[in-house]
Amino acid sequence: MKGFFNFSTTSLLWRQSSYSNQVRAMSSAGLHGRSLQQPWLLCQQAYINGKWVDAVAGKTMEIDNPSSGKIIGTVPAMTATDTQVAIDAAHTAFQTWKNTTAKERSIVLRRWFNLVEEHKEDMALLLTAEAGKPLSESRGELGYGASFLEWFAEEAKRINGEVLQAPMPNREMIFIRQPIGVAGMITPWNFPTAMITRKAGAALAAGCTCVVKPAEDTPYSALALAALADKAGLPPGVFNVITCTKADAVAVGSLLCKSPKVAGISFTGSTGVGKILYEQCATGVKRLGLELGGNAPFIVFDSADLDTAVNAIMIAKFRNAGQTCVSANRILVQRGIYDQFLERVKTAMEGLVVGDGLDDGVTLGPLINKPQLDKVSRLVSETVAAGARVEMGGSPHSYGDLYYQPTLLTSVVTGMPCADIEV
Ligand code: ADP
Repeated sequence: MKGFFNFSTTSLLWRQSSYSNQVRAMSSAGLHGRSLQQPWLLCQQAYINGKWVDAVAGKTMEIDNPSSGKIIGTVPAMTATDTQVAIDAAHTAFQTWKNTTAKERSIVLRRWFNLVEEHKEDMALLLTAEAGKPLSESRGELGYGASFLEWFAEEAKRINGEVLQAPMPNREMIFIRQPIGVAGMITPWNFPTAMITRKAGAALAAGCTCVVKPAEDTPYSALALAALADKAGLPPGVFNVITCTKADAVAVGSLLCKSPKVAGISFTGSTGVGKILYEQCATGVKRLGLELGGNAPFIVFDSADLDTAVNAIMIAKFRNAGQTCVSANRILVQRGIYDQFLERVKTAMEGLVVGDGLDDGVTLGPLINKPQLDKVSRLVSETVAAGARVEMGGSPHSYGDLYYQPTLLTSVVTGMPCADIEV
């Protein structure tokens, strides 16, 4: 038997961390004048087969801070060629990793968790610099993200099989669980740490190996995770991170979906891209896990507790500048409580502090990039043109190029862009 029931006696040799990641010049301007306690956490190369590497074609791309537009640094602009190298490495590593004991995998995941906890403050700083969310939210994401590594470190030891009652006397029904192989992971920019630890923690605990492609806006959180995975002792090829432009994501994603060496895909992102990946995975009838968009309403009844309702909408709508999967676009309020609720929400919105997420007290940062700002601007102007009333905001914010004013529209009905289209 293989996988979880293989009680291999060969222990993993925990590697000494190499840290050959070149600490290239980084712009402290991109970090809003701050510096990392551990500068090696800002990795400007990709991580394949336990090594820090450049793109085969030598190209790089600049990563900026959406708060200021200042450049943080560069990362390799990789293509399908580099992706194939990562897939090959993960496929080779799988032949050994799948035979490790649950205990061995648990130990290394626990070490990774401890390292993320230890370097939480630097990781939060990087996250805010590249994604724009306020530092307090980044710290929250780090805690949440690290918790997946802890959870799967513990669950790794509980991946048991089952013996079921057979319907016939001469049969036995025994279920075992085995790792499927290389897992391809494509992740978004709104939770650059947690979406990786959630996917990779599960895959690694099960005995799978990973090729991660983080979003082009936020590669540094992923690469810092790789640096800590390396330090934790994950063997070469078990966890790989490739970086590429949005344009190259198409070919990179296609290869991950179609390569016979990749056994499964896990994706969090837009519904449109999810559909493309679904189609591409059909070629090899590949397993696929998708976390896509949605547009569920926030509903307030007359009987609601106002404090609870207002606090809840402020978190649901304004966390990460409204760029999370649970950000409510449609707020449906029953007539009896409507006026009070509206006034209370306006007051709460006036308390939002717009600015650079690295500054103390800031609660609302920028949008992630220009296309996102354009989309929000368009949704608001078209909804207003369709008859909505602007109670607050309604246009870009003067703080910076990617900032939008906290905006409250009323008289919005179904059919208007803001109500129908996920922000
Ligand atoms: P958003 O619109 O929120 O940016 P996307 O779905 O475009 O969400 O992006 C989520 C992730 O999917 C990112 O890592 C991005 O690079 C990647 N991506 C975008 N387009 C494709 C594609 N055609 N194939 C594979 N991955 C893609």
